[in-house]
Amino acid sequence: MSPEALLQTPSAFTESLDIPHSLTSEEFDEYVMKTYARYPITLERGSGCRVWDSEGREYLDFVAGIATCTLGHAHPVMVEAVTRQIQTLHHVSNLYYTAAQGELAKWLVEHSCADRAFFCNSGAEANEGAIKLARKYAHEVRRIQDPVILTAHASFHGRTLATITATGQPKYQKGFSPLVPGFYYVTYNDLAGLEQAIAELDQNQPRVAAVLLEALQGEGGVRPGDRAYFQRVREICDQNGILLICDEVQVGMGRSGNLWGYENLGIEPDIFTSAKGLGGGIPIGAMLCKSFCNVFQPGDHASTFGGNPFACSVALAVCRTIERENVLQNVQERGEQLRAGLRAIAERYPNQIADVRGWGLINGLELNTDSDLTSAQIVQATINQGLLLVPAGPKVVRFVPPLIVTATEIDQALQAIEYAFTSL
Ligand SMILES: *Cc1c(COP(=O)(O)O)cnc(C)c1O
Repeated sequence: MSPEALLQTPSAFTESLDIPHSLTSEEFDEYVMKTYARYPITLERGSGCRVWDSEGREYLDFVAGIATCTLGHAHPVMVEAVTRQIQTLHHVSNLYYTAAQGELAKWLVEHSCADRAFFCNSGAEANEGAIKLARKYAHEVRRIQDPVILTAHASFHGRTLATITATGQPKYQKGFSPLVPGFYYVTYNDLAGLEQAIAELDQNQPRVAAVLLEALQGEGGVRPGDRAYFQRVREICDQNGILLICDEVQVGMGRSGNLWGYENLGIEPDIFTSAKGLGGGIPIGAMLCKSFCNVFQPGDHASTFGGNPFACSVALAVCRTIERENVLQNVQERGEQLRAGLRAIAERYPNQIADVRGWGLINGLELNTDSDLTSAQIVQATINQGLLLVPAGPKVVRFVPPLIVTATEIDQALQAIEYAFTSL
């Protein structure tokens, strides 16, 4: 078919674009690298907080693409934004100005402590940008030859070489040495450990360029940052010229009940990163900073896809919907409802459940170390009840539903969890 004919008869062509369900999971694995341990479910369709598999089974989705589908599935605003932008302009590179990138940066700057934004495609890439910016600031402004970035044990910052090094969990680093130099680990929420690390590293001459922390550790077990700790970290950074970087990839974009997780701690970072929820499920990442540390010059950093009009217009639609629909209030109220319900279940299963914790709609249920139960078993049991959940480590079950989840859906999820514990 000639290109002209294609344009004239899009329906004849698009029919051939229909994706058949012909591959079994075994066949799928013959073509796709097996880097993931997948559940034996093929998801086909979603609407709001629900998804359906290829057998027509319905699930309540409390994973939301791992804290990503801010507005759930097939939200009309997203459908409209995606359709309009693909019909107008979807990608041109950063050789030119585009309206959507500027408007998204403006919205983010006006709704955060930052002054400037850089766009990329994922959380890891956003953190890479933050690491590069912190290193350049250390070299250029503080004349540090050999900068070190402090990160926390049990943190998670991504899967590129620099970000697995920043990630304070050996299981993500195993087999990939040599790792990137210039990182040092401290214990999360432990002030004495941080003070000692800085004293040791800065003993002869200043070396500590930045402290990189999640406001709430997500993958590491849904552990909220301690307010007093973060406020003291902020003071220590100010006193020593050290940059404070918050990884807001999972907890940011409204999930904590505030737009940014750092607001829950009463501090402002110098640099922060966003990704997961930013595009509501369309891939986009951002790295934002205050003016004083904005040392990037043209040519210093780049991303071919970064901030393209397609991703930016969808992210902007997500941002505006959060604001217009008062989504943060829903996050706070539904989060309280969920935690209250989980605590009631925890009281009925005191031997199994050790803790219920979280902010807004990022919550964790921790199993007793003495109990044989694992988070993987709970997740399998709730899948059987039609509820999707995701572990955050071997003993913590994570609840990260779309931010538009309703009170009825929270009740349904709680019922499924109760049944799951009964069945085990
Ligand atoms: C998921 C996550 C990342 C990595 O994001 P990707 O988009 O998978 O690269 C980084 N930091 C935190 C806190 C995350 O939760």
